[in-house]
Amino acid sequence: MEDPRISPVKPRFGREIILFPLPLQGHITPMLQLANILYARGFSITIVHTYFNSPNSSNYPHFSFRPIPNGFLEGQASTVDFIALVTLMNVTCVGPFRDCLAKLLSDASKDRIPCCLITDPVWHFTQAVANELNFPRMVLRTSSISSFLAFCALPLMQEKGYLPLQDSRLEEAVPELPPLKVKDLHVIHSKDPEDVLRLIIAMAETMRASSGLIFNAFEELEPSKLAECRRSFPVPIFTVGPFHKLSVGPSGSLLPQDKSCISWLDKQEKPKSVLYVSFGSLSIVSEAQFLEIAWGLANSGQHFLWVVRPASVRGSEWLEALPSGFLEGLGGRGHIVRWAPQHEVLAHPAVGGFWTHNGWNSTLEAISDGVPMMCMPFFGDQRVNSRYVSDEWRVGLHLEYKVERRKIEDAIRRLMVSEEGEEMRERMKALKRTVDECLQDGGSSFRSLQKLTEYLVSF
Ligand code: UDP
Repeated sequence: MEDPRISPVKPRFGREIILFPLPLQGHITPMLQLANILYARGFSITIVHTYFNSPNSSNYPHFSFRPIPNGFLEGQASTVDFIALVTLMNVTCVGPFRDCLAKLLSDASKDRIPCCLITDPVWHFTQAVANELNFPRMVLRTSSISSFLAFCALPLMQEKGYLPLQDSRLEEAVPELPPLKVKDLHVIHSKDPEDVLRLIIAMAETMRASSGLIFNAFEELEPSKLAECRRSFPVPIFTVGPFHKLSVGPSGSLLPQDKSCISWLDKQEKPKSVLYVSFGSLSIVSEAQFLEIAWGLANSGQHFLWVVRPASVRGSEWLEALPSGFLEGLGGRGHIVRWAPQHEVLAHPAVGGFWTHNGWNSTLEAISDGVPMMCMPFFGDQRVNSRYVSDEWRVGLHLEYKVERRKIEDAIRRLMVSEEGEEMRERMKALKRTVDECLQDGGSSFRSLQKLTEYLVSF
């Protein structure tokens, strides 16, 4: 059945945007949200995607999908070494992507006039392809502006001796990147650490050469970082987030969402009494950490909804590592699912806190729904986001990388039932109001989207 929120809006002027997401959940979701936003503005949409982690096209009957081969064999790459995966794909996808884009351009007609390519910046090879085909390329960076700049600063961090990380310096502040500490610097493990630096340099160069940058972010949250970004990247920059508040239609989730948790939340009598726990689509914990998390939750005495993704506990398929009778012993206080409809969960009145890994989508979703956080970052930009949440915006508690049941139990109580938690909730309410305002007619994201639309039409 057609989604009534989508169907009345049809492409009005034949202008087509071609989008090429990186095949990871946290990157696909915002790219598809941006596609929905642009569709609603009258553009027709074509999504070029790899077979690896391909989006569910049946959820988007209003888009056209063009799959391209990954160019590698099953088992040759996995998301466990993300850097190795994208380094490989930046080579193997060149030919298939070039052919696909060239065909889309040569098949143009008066009803379908391709006007711009929007890719993830990690696909840095696409700039050379766009140049060759004389077609404009814009970039959607799916992280916060602050973490993007911290990512670009990694070569400098190495030069200054902060990296590789040394145990004795972890608690030191990084004066070049306040409020970050050494332990918050982007750590992305890869079999070849030089690949990380090469990726950053290639991304930054091709972003500078692009026709513009789009962020799933809003101006009021990171004003000084946005100004810094404009100085470092002298191309048009658009901040039109949070996307999920502007985008109608399906979620873009790669995993099936278990809606049973919404009925479970409906049964909770007290508003804001449930801690929602989810560490995103990529993070993996050891069995020992999993047990610390489980006992921390159980001993806190608070109600919780916990997403345990299949295969996210090393060596287990799902919940085998839980002591037998664990859930029964909670007397209905806890509910576990494989994957949740996170937007609905965070917007639910029973939810009062979010224990998160601080992926940027999750962080932005929590801010938009006014839910204070407990921060447990794993890698990459999550570490930067967590520090901003706890020390800059002061809407969350940082676990300081300690996965210990006592610390967890204490932090949950501080977040859910203490005055300190209440103060964070109040600051979150103010931040949520700012989000609501930036999306309204005349607000910063609203205006930025207008400008982006005009810019895209101008190509
Ligand atoms: N998500 C979801 N259900 C879950 C957990 C996560 O739908 O049970 C969604 C969440 O709403 C977010 C995305 O998955 O949009 C995760 O992206 P994020 O940037 O937070 O983290 P990543 O998965 O990239 O580490």
